[in-house]
Amino acid sequence: ESYLDNAATTSVLPAAAQAAMEAMTQCWGNPSSLHGRGIEAHLLLERAREDVAAALGCGKEELTFTSGATESNNLALFGAARAKRRRGRRIVTTAFEHSSVIGAMGQLQKEGFDVVFVPPEPDGTLPPEKIAEQVDKNTILVSTMFVNNELGTILDISRIGRLIKRQNPDVLYHCDAVQAFCKEPFKAARLGVDLLSVSSHKIHGPKGCGALYLKKGVRIEPIVFGGAQERGLRPGTEALPLIAAFAAAAKESSQHMAGSRDHICALNASLRARLSDLDGVFINSPDTASPYILNASVTGVRSEIMLHALEERGVYVSSGSACAKGEPSHVLSALGLSRPLADSALRISFTYESTQAHVDALIDSLRDLIPRYRASRRG
Ligand code: PMP
Repeated sequence: ESYLDNAATTSVLPAAAQAAMEAMTQCWGNPSSLHGRGIEAHLLLERAREDVAAALGCGKEELTFTSGATESNNLALFGAARAKRRRGRRIVTTAFEHSSVIGAMGQLQKEGFDVVFVPPEPDGTLPPEKIAEQVDKNTILVSTMFVNNELGTILDISRIGRLIKRQNPDVLYHCDAVQAFCKEPFKAARLGVDLLSVSSHKIHGPKGCGALYLKKGVRIEPIVFGGAQERGLRPGTEALPLIAAFAAAAKESSQHMAGSRDHICALNASLRARLSDLDGVFINSPDTASPYILNASVTGVRSEIMLHALEERGVYVSSGSACAKGEPSHVLSALGLSRPLADSALRISFTYESTQAHVDALIDSLRDLIPRYRASRRG
């Protein structure tokens, strides 16, 4: 099997599965209980928080566990916008954010906020200046992703942070770092952001768990109300098995990061070169994209058709247009990609487990399948 869809999700590391199992069978107390069972669970929770904070490069008191990055993004955006609503109504983001940001922004618009969606350049990049120039005195919040999940575009987060704070020192800056965590080297507390979202299942942890970094001293409002867990910012009994597993994954994946960079860059270079050799295949990712994600269009064959043909050969990729009602994704639309390119886009995404054999299997399959499917369309 050649699983090349690691931007969608990753396999669960044995150490993560084991940590979840241990929490469920041996440490099943409620971290809020005052007796020994509770204290034991509380200690496990705080140890997990230390491990994730160490991998993220922030203080443990700056970290809130959530049910995943969709929730982290929603908490960050609604929490910040509502906390700042008396200071202004303007929010700046990009047109190629993940749907969990785009969707939250749509709801904020309905609540009366003015949201500006800055489009990427036709080559898939997004210069920091384009974002900063939209920030004015009325702007309360800026949200940009670190690495785009469809194209791999890397945004210069430190520079965006510097530029927007120069325009307006009061603006809060949120970063969706889901596709950068344990892939791009960064320390959340040194990045110049106020809030930052990550997800467990993109770094070989289980699904249904994530975290929000909230810079010390920054106040936002909760979006769920109830108990005092997670300092009242995210009430509800903590999902300790998932959190313990997330921590185990963060520990191991962050250790893999530096060592696998060269390997991933080599795989990406090989994939790019060999795709470019194929007739009618065009690469949509910018040259400067993350080596973990490559988006390419196989003109003349619809994404979904090729995806399933590849699947029959044990090669798993994603359609570049995870589309609703046959429309191309908002990311490819924001790029201004022509319809034939958008409709035939594939996303290939790596992890440190990926090998040259996976790339070879993909290329060999494409070499076989492309003429067949292009011919059958004409015939
Ligand atoms: N942001 C980005 C950039 C993502 O790629 C994803 C996952 N596809 C999310 C947010 C949402 O994460 P989760 O699945 O943990 O809700």
